[in-house]
Amino acid sequence: MPTTVPDRVRSPRQHLRLVRSCEACSLSACRTAPVVGDGPAPADLLVLAPAPGRHEDLVGKALAGSARNVLDAALLDARIDPESVRVTTLVRCRAEDGAPPTMAQIRACTAHLDAEFAMVQPSVVLALGALPTSVLLGHPVPFDKVRGYRLDVRGGITLVPTHQPHDAVRGDHTVAEAIRRDVSVAAAVLAGRMKSGADARDELRARLG
Ligand code: SF4
Repeated sequence: MPTTVPDRVRSPRQHLRLVRSCEACSLSACRTAPVVGDGPAPADLLVLAPAPGRHEDLVGKALAGSARNVLDAALLDARIDPESVRVTTLVRCRAEDGAPPTMAQIRACTAHLDAEFAMVQPSVVLALGALPTSVLLGHPVPFDKVRGYRLDVRGGITLVPTHQPHDAVRGDHTVAEAIRRDVSVAAAVLAGRMKSGADARDELRARLG
């Protein structure tokens, strides 16, 4: 059953209380520490990971350990202060076996995501992997064709899909390099040096054929 979250969550602290008490889906039974976004709200850039991993579940942080280091290195490379970025997850609780969230669990958690978008009011979202990308778009997409590109979601927010930093941690150096390039695209949109997702719609159509 979808969770109930007030129309307007006024602060990250209030959101933290709501997430910690949430039992709207089966994941509440196996979590250690539910994840709430970390970083400032509002923030120009929101990073959206799919779900907490083992490490994140222990510390209640959206992206922790080596994976966070990969993201932070890419942000610094693009001259973005990691402290200025909000990082969060599509669902807040980890499955016991680490399985990706089901669509029912994602739907149940949508109210928390909506509350976070309302608090953060990002102009650019960096989605880590195919799942948050397709959820934000509302339909599946060929991830390889849209990765690193600019898409228009939620009425004017630019979505830039990239890989999950966990894949770079597993030793694939090409992934870390691709994340760097994609973060530089997000930085260029933020700085007004590149078209937004809305303005790049025709380019995207041509690219997808
Ligand atoms: S995943 Fe989301 S909806 Fe499910 S229990 Fe956790 S906070 Fe609630």
